[in-house]
Formats: sequence, structure tokens, C-alpha cells
Amino acid sequence: DQRLVSGGRDAEDGPEASLRPQTLGEFTGQQASRDNLAIFIEAARGRGDPLDHVLLHGPPGLGKTTLAQIIAREMGVGFRATSGPIIQRAGDLAAILTNLQPRDVLFIDEIHRLQPAIEEVLYPAMEDFVLDLIIGEGPGARSVRIDLPRFTLIGATTRSGLLANPLRDRFGIPLRLIFYTPEELTRIVTRAAALLDMDLTSDGAAEIARRSRGTPRIAGRLTRRVRDFAAVAGTVTVDRKAADAALNRLDVDQRGLDAMDRRYLRRIAEHHNGGPVGVETLAAALSEPRDTLEDVVEPYLIQEGFLTRTSRGRMLGREVWAHLGLAPPPAPGG
Ligand code: ADP
Repeated sequence: DQRLVSGGRDAEDGPEASLRPQTLGEFTGQQASRDNLAIFIEAARGRGDPLDHVLLHGPPGLGKTTLAQIIAREMGVGFRATSGPIIQRAGDLAAILTNLQPRDVLFIDEIHRLQPAIEEVLYPAMEDFVLDLIIGEGPGARSVRIDLPRFTLIGATTRSGLLANPLRDRFGIPLRLIFYTPEELTRIVTRAAALLDMDLTSDGAAEIARRSRGTPRIAGRLTRRVRDFAAVAGTVTVDRKAADAALNRLDVDQRGLDAMDRRYLRRIAEHHNGGPVGVETLAAALSEPRDTLEDVVEPYLIQEGFLTRTSRGRMLGREVWAHLGLAPPPAPGG
């Protein structure tokens, strides 16, 4: 079934996909995860075993899908991809699993969105490489056990805490992906510019990198958009000044925050005096799903010190007021 399983991603990811690194060596950043993976891959290959199951967790756009594809390539095995919400019935998953070749990688994106009944099918598949299926209904129903090829499951999720414990425990190799440093992103932007035949100076690349929210997917998108602005303006060489002008027009501010980030921070400043305020309240006021705030918006703001999570709710960091051009509230009791 093409819809359930495909070797790659959807068309929307097409232009970015061409920028995807193909080998562990080409993959910039995530040094600790890469070093560990290189060892586990070498050991598994040496034994002729499939790689242990891998759980990749971290915010969107940090390279989970890319790493999964690289793992399959470095293992020299096939790659199948699906995602949690797409798998509707146990039979869907059974069909995917029984079609795997020995040692293949099965990638399940958004694995935290698998239905509980389907997770149950996954447990024996991951642990013992068998499927327990119920055939028929009522008194005539019987269970049959089907042997599966020994495979590697790679699950991707935004937060490992979203997974049920029994599922999380079945991953032998859990890896947390972290935001990229400006230096790492500069290398990624420079490589993307070369692949796009774009004349970008090193300070231009650094400017795009600095404002990419620590995220390669955003770096790739901003690089393309900056290229568009430069092309229309007739700019041949894109330097820091040209990059800055384009990024300002894209509404990406000096700290790399976008319109959504600022709307979120402004809400806490103007309606809650800087917090604390509960995430549910913010989600309702901003008409954004709570998950989007927690998985997409907040992690970077927290890393940059714009936001802290306390037991009483979200609170703004000190520098937010100046950044938004607002007067800070008077100190309590002062
Ligand atoms: P995720 O699955 O975590 O959402 P992806 O693997 O789809 O992220 O990566 C998003 C985009 O960012 C990809 O199209 C890829 O081109 C780029 N990318 C991700 N990680 C890297 C990296 N380490 N080096 C270069 N490009 C990367």
C-alpha cells in the first residue's frame, strides 16, 4: 500500500530532501549521537545482526528522518517509512512487518500517535520478532503466531515522555537530538547554498544560521527564501546585509524568532504580566494546539532563556521585555 509505506517522504519535503545528507560523515552536528551510532552500527554489522531498535526524540526538523535513512544506508539494508497516525488497524502494521526483509529498517514517525491496540502488536514484534494475530471472531476465534524477519524499528517522537513506558523500554538505543549551534548551522547553510548554486558569503551564511532557531529544516527553508529575494532584487552575491534584509522581510527577527514565537511571548507579557500562566490557557487564547506549543514553540524559547517552565506555569525570561520593546512590570512589592 503506497499510502502506508513509502521509501521517502511526501512531496512537500521534496525540495528539502535534495539537501539531505546521505552518510553519517556528511551529517553535521549531534556529535554524541553520531559517535554512539557509528559504534553500534559497526558492531551490528560485524555480527551480521540487525541494529537494536532506535528511538529518536527531539523537536521537529532536527534530522530524525534523515538519521533513520542514514542508519539504513550505513547498515546496507532496506528502508521502509510510515507514521503513527497513518496506521489505523493492526492488519496495516502486520502487512508492513511481514513484508520486511531480514535486517531492514522500519521507520515510524510520530510513533507516540500509534493507537494502543496497535502498540500491543508492536511489543512481541520488537521483542521476539513474532506477530500474534487473532483470526475470526466469537467462540471460533483462534490466535496464530507468525515469525517475522529480524528487523530494526526506528521510532521518532518529539518528546520521549509521550511514549507509554512499555514501548519506550523496548528501544535499546534511545537518542535525544538537540538544537544545533550557530557554527553547525553555518556549515549546513554553506553546504545548502553550494547545492543550490547560490553565491553566499561566509558572513551571509552565519547570519542565516544565527536566525534559524537551531533547526536545520528552518535553515534550509530560510536559505531558499533568501535566495529568492536576492534573485528578484538582482543581487548576485548574498552577504550579511542582503541576508539580513531578506530575513527581516520574512518576519524573522534578530534573535531568529518568528511571528508565532512573538505572538506567544507577547500574550504572556500583555495578558499575564509575564506569568506564571498555564499552557492550556495560552493554547486556548492563541488557538493553537497545546502539543504545538509544547513541541514546536516552547523548546527553543526555553533554550534561549526567553521562557521558563515552573510548577505554576510558564514565565517570561527577563530579556523578553526589551526584545519585544515593552516596559517590564514593576518588581513585586517595589
Ligand atoms: P525531523 O525528521 O527531525 O523532523 P528531518 O530529518 O526531516 O527532520 O530534517 C529536516 C531537514 O533538515 C531535512 O530535509 C534535511 O535536509 C535537513 N537536515 C536535518 N539534519 C541535518 C544535518 N545534520 N545536516 C544537514 N541537513 C540536515
